[in-house]
Amino acid sequence: MRLGACSYDELKALTTESSQRIIMVRTRVAPSPTGDPHVGTAYMALFSYCFAKQQGGEFVLRVEDTDVARSTKASEQAIIDSLTWLGLTWDEGPDLGGPHGPYRQSERLERYQTSIDKLLEAGHAFHCFCDTEKLDAMRKAQVAAGETTRYDGSCCHLSASDVNERLAQKVPFVVRMKVPESGVCTVHDRLRGAIEIEYAQIDMQVLQKADGFPTYHMAVVVDDHLMGITHIIRGEEWINSAPKHQLLFEYLGWPMPELIHLPLLRNPDKSKLSKRKNPTSIQFYRDMGFMPEALINYLGLLGWSLPSGEEKFSLAEMVESFDVDRMSLGAPVFDVEKLKWLNGRWLRENLDDGALADRLQDWALNRERLLAVIPLIKERIEVFSDLAPITSFFLEGMPRLDADSFEKLKTEPAETIKVLQYSLWHLERAGDWKSPVLQAGLRQLAENMGLKIRDFLAPLFIAVSGQPVAPPLFDSMVVLGPDMTRARIRHALNALGGVSKKQTKKLDSEYRQLEVKG
Ligand code: GLU
Repeated sequence: MRLGACSYDELKALTTESSQRIIMVRTRVAPSPTGDPHVGTAYMALFSYCFAKQQGGEFVLRVEDTDVARSTKASEQAIIDSLTWLGLTWDEGPDLGGPHGPYRQSERLERYQTSIDKLLEAGHAFHCFCDTEKLDAMRKAQVAAGETTRYDGSCCHLSASDVNERLAQKVPFVVRMKVPESGVCTVHDRLRGAIEIEYAQIDMQVLQKADGFPTYHMAVVVDDHLMGITHIIRGEEWINSAPKHQLLFEYLGWPMPELIHLPLLRNPDKSKLSKRKNPTSIQFYRDMGFMPEALINYLGLLGWSLPSGEEKFSLAEMVESFDVDRMSLGAPVFDVEKLKWLNGRWLRENLDDGALADRLQDWALNRERLLAVIPLIKERIEVFSDLAPITSFFLEGMPRLDADSFEKLKTEPAETIKVLQYSLWHLERAGDWKSPVLQAGLRQLAENMGLKIRDFLAPLFIAVSGQPVAPPLFDSMVVLGPDMTRARIRHALNALGGVSKKQTKKLDSEYRQLEVKG
C-alpha cells in the first residue's frame, strides 16, 4: 500500500489497530546548514513537529550538508540551538543519534551511491559527460527558441561501450535521472490536491555531481525512505521538484510519503521573506528579547489557528488540537509588529514579576554579559552611573537612525552606503566571530577600498551603536553577536534610503573585484 494514498484517518486507524501493521507517523525537518537559522526553518519544523506529535509519532532533525562549500558546523550548531530555544525537540538527530542515523547527509554518502548504482543498473539514470560549454549553448538555443530550458538528453543514448570508454578515460561526468518523454505526472499534495505537471517540463535532474556528492534531490529521496518518513512537510518552493522525487521513489520501488507543501513566509509587501526587508534569523529574535513561547505561537498562527479563534496558544495546546487539514494556504505575512504585540501578551499574562526578572537576567542582565562589557568601558567611566548611557546600545534593539545621523561623516552618502554594504557582505561570510578576525577582515576591506580606517569605521560605529563615539567597535560587535550586528547594519542601510536591487547588483560586482584584490 502506498502511504501517499493513505488518508489521515486511515493512517490513524492503522497506527492504533494492533491487528494491523503499525505505521508510526514520522516527520522531519531537513535544514541546510548554510547560514543563519531562518525563521522559515522553524516554521517548517513547528508544523512537522505538531503533525507528528498530535498522532503520537516521531519527529526527526536531518542536516542536509551536501553543499560542501557552503555548509558549516557553526550554522548546524546555530540551527540546533535555535530550535532547542524554541522548545522544538526531536526524537532523532545528529546530536542525539538514533536507529536511522547518521543524520548528517555528508556521513551517508555510501547509501546514496548504492541507490545511484541501482538506478544506473536499471537504466533509470545515465552518465552525462556534457561540459559547461555544451550545457550553456544548449540553454541559449532553448531560450532563443522560446522552449523550457532543460537537458536535451544527448548522453541518454550513449552505448554502454561509449560510456565505459569515457569512464576509463576519466572524462568528468554527472549522473542524471531519466524522465518519460511525454505524458503528465500527477503528484498529490495533502492540502492542494492533485498537481499535474507535464513530463516535458521536468528536467533530467542531476542526481550525482561531478565531485561525487549527491544532489539534494537524490539525497532527500534516499533519506526520507531509509529514515521511514511518512509525511514530508516543507515549503512550496519544492512543489516543482515533487515529480522528480516521485519518479525516484517509483524507480527505486519505494512507497511515496505523503506530501504537504506549506506556503512560504512573506515580507509585508508580500515578497518572499528576506533579511533585506525583515530580520529572518531566529537568533536575532532571541537577541532582541522576544520570548520563545511568543515566537513559536506567532509562527503557528501564521498557518493555523485554534478552533476557538484565540490567537494566543502554547506549543502543547497547538499539538493537542492540531489538524493539518485546517491549515491555511494563504500567503503568511511575517509582521514583526504583530509578533511584538503577541510577545507583550505573553510577557504580561504568563510571567509574574519574579519570572520576568529571571527572564531578563537570562537574556542580557547577567554576570557573564557584564563581564564581557566591563573591559570595554572601564577606562571610560568614573562613577557607576556612567554605565547606563555608555552601554545602553548593548541592550537596545535597533538604534534610532535616519539619514541625518550620517551627515557629519567624511564619506559622501554613496560611499557610506558602500562601506556599510560591503562590510555587511563581509560579515555575512565571517566564519569566526572574534574581535581580531573581524578587525583584520574589515581593515583589509578598508584598504582595498582605498579608505582611511577612521573614515571607513565611522559609519559602522553609527550603525552598530547608534552614536559616533562608542566603546571599541569590534569588541562591541562580539558582545552584540553576529545576528544583531548584521541586523543593525541592514537597519542603517535602510535609514540611508535602502539599496535597490539594481544598485545591489552593481555593488556586488564591485565588491567581488575588491575581494579579489584582498
Ligand atoms: N534542505 C532543504 C531545505 O533546506 C530541505 C527541503 C525539504 O524539506 O525537502 O530547504
